Amino acid sequence: MKNSQQLESTMSCAEFQEQLPELFASGNGGVPSDPNLQAHLDTCENCSALVRDLQYIADQARMLLEPAQDEPSDDVWSNIQNKLKSEQAEGGFPSSPPLPS
Ligand SMILES: [Zn+2]
Repeated sequence: MKNSQQLESTMSCAEFQEQLPELFASGNGGVPSDPNLQAHLDTCENCSALVRDLQYIADQARMLLEPAQDEPSDDVWSNIQNKLKSEQAEGGFPSSPPLPS
């Protein structure tokens, strides 16, 4: 129902998404305390999907930052380093540039 959109939502998607960084920075896990934001979230599928994605990413980041698992965080970094190394090798970049003679 496009013609009811203006009545129900005073906020546009662009305006809502401008508030997203603050929403997540506030530590509420992307749950808006502003009723205008919540109202848009309730009525807009695009933005609620976006918030769900961001919440998922935030969760993943938290799991990386907080060593809640038994694995030491060193493993995470060595895995990342290994991945970077293998990607560099696949990309054809020399891992050690030739020394000037
Ligand atoms: Zn929206």
